[in-house]
Amino acid sequence: MKVFINPGHAPNGKPDPGAVNARTGLRESDVAAAVGNAAAQYLISAGVAVAVLQHDDLATICDTANASGADLFISIHCNAAESPAALGTETYCYPGSTAGEMLAKAVQRQIVDSLHTVDRGVKLAIPGQNGLYVLNNTSMPAILVELAFISNDHDADLLTHYQDAFARAIARGVTDYQLMQ
Ligand SMILES: [Zn+2]
Repeated sequence: MKVFINPGHAPNGKPDPGAVNARTGLRESDVAAAVGNAAAQYLISAGVAVAVLQHDDLATICDTANASGADLFISIHCNAAESPAALGTETYCYPGSTAGEMLAKAVQRQIVDSLHTVDRGVKLAIPGQNGLYVLNNTSMPAILVELAFISNDHDADLLTHYQDAFARAIARGVTDYQLMQ
């Protein structure tokens, strides 16, 4: 089993930091990198092979993932909304991929259970409607997890201080998925 982890947005936030918390300056690209790299270490410890790539170019990410021989693809992001009240965790998968939906549910469950975030559920990213490039253009079961809302004070606190817990939850979601195979 090999997992390809894609922390969202550009390394070191250059040129694209993703969403930024207006009060603290916490950047999505940094949270995604920290959580993705830590999740990789937990997975390696569990005997799972891992590749990690954070890159500003989405086509490069998908081409690299597709050529990597990875069995699963996980893109890590933080959500943001104009309303500072919006909060919680949601995970996207590609419609029609049973394995992708199973992986999404396993990761979503682990994050909600361990971080006690609001459960916004697993959602289908439908091409042409709310499709997501990295889900449309990867060839293996793929998910995009929105850990929590960087624009919400409660969630931003979790994203600042509990990065390791998010990472462990993602790794446990993968091993839960593995056990379902
Ligand atoms: Zn993002």
